[in-house]
Amino acid sequence: MTDNFDLEHIWHPYTSMTQPLPTFKVKRAYGATIELDDGKTLIDGMSSWWCAIHGYNHPELNQAVTDQLQNMSHIMFGGLTHDPAIELGKILLKITPPNLDKIFYADSGSVAVEVALKMAVQFWTAQGQPQKTNFITTRSGYHGDTWNAMSVCDPVTGMHQIFGTSLPNRLFVAAPQTKFHEEWNQEDIAEVEQAIQQNHENLAALIIEPIVQGAGGMRFYHPEYLRQAKALCERYNLLLIFDEIATGFGRTGKLFAWEHAQVEPDIMCIGKGLTGGYMTLSATLTTKHVAETISRGEVGVFMHGPTFMANPLACAVALKSTQLLIEQDWQANIERIEQQLSQYLKPLSQLDYVADVRVLGAIGVVELTFNVDMKTLQQQFVDRGIWIRPFGKLVYVMPPYVITHQELSDLLEQLVEVVQTMQGAN
Ligand code: PMP
Repeated sequence: MTDNFDLEHIWHPYTSMTQPLPTFKVKRAYGATIELDDGKTLIDGMSSWWCAIHGYNHPELNQAVTDQLQNMSHIMFGGLTHDPAIELGKILLKITPPNLDKIFYADSGSVAVEVALKMAVQFWTAQGQPQKTNFITTRSGYHGDTWNAMSVCDPVTGMHQIFGTSLPNRLFVAAPQTKFHEEWNQEDIAEVEQAIQQNHENLAALIIEPIVQGAGGMRFYHPEYLRQAKALCERYNLLLIFDEIATGFGRTGKLFAWEHAQVEPDIMCIGKGLTGGYMTLSATLTTKHVAETISRGEVGVFMHGPTFMANPLACAVALKSTQLLIEQDWQANIERIEQQLSQYLKPLSQLDYVADVRVLGAIGVVELTFNVDMKTLQQQFVDRGIWIRPFGKLVYVMPPYVITHQELSDLLEQLVEVVQTMQGAN
């Protein structure tokens, strides 16, 4: 099944070139179906890592790309602008926190995070506080693979050991402990408070994924954490950055996860589901205050400008994808998925090698007591006609929102059977 050229020459995410994991060649994908080269079909449980919210090969999204192609696929954003960027901007400002007013388009989630961190530093420098350059964040976070994004990822599961002192040293506090549905424990914020109190003079911002810590452990935490974090940021002059790259566009049951807490950040990063998974695009949004402060500074401009900034094809499909989402009863649909995820997955918590089962919105997580053998498990899932990519102790699903009741039942039945009969469990 694995293609030889691919195996020999093409690097895949987080893999070895001497002992690469097998890859499955995809011929096409449509709706919630992935069709492999040999004709086998898989029900998609991953939305291609959070992004294909409307499924694959969506006629309206295809049309949006085709229409835009007739005008231009790309044009530089320095000195030029275009309708796709403008119309997308208008809709984004309607659906993101009301205080956010300025949009910086970038090319991937990681770059959106870099942009957010740079904005925060320039914000303080512009006010004569050039010492406020560091960041505080929580453990178990994930913000991307570029240098500074990596520096604020969890220092253990992230890449700090590999890159050592070449990574800037950030201030880490424990991950939020009170779970989403539990009663709030005030102790949960104590370490953050102490760390900010002691270090605020050098801190530009607190960066965090609101409500759901994604690739750093798929943890769902209490909204009160964000309310208290915001109060601390205000008290000690730190900006608050929300990384909504994974949580955005309905995934957690709200259009964006900040709504669970009703806490507005100073800067917010979005990506992934923004284009419905059609191509890479991200945006960093901020307030008038932050933008104007940066613009009043000695430099007077924000120092970032990627070549593919606001790529028109990506903006056009993002506009259509966002319209498609908000024009439908997306919330009822996510609730449907959430109920089905709970119904199938929750009983797994009775197994003694299942540490936890949690569901929020269209995210279902089974946390085991041991690390899975990804290669074996992946093959088992494919043999059973489902696409799920586990990591560490986690077997999790976040299906495209177009998945039907029947498809989701089939997917979950197979997943449950695999977990129930796991080798390596003890
Ligand atoms: N932040 C979060 C919360 C993410 O989940 C990811 C991607 N997994 C990123 C940032 C990085 O995005 P990208 O892979 O598009 O660079």
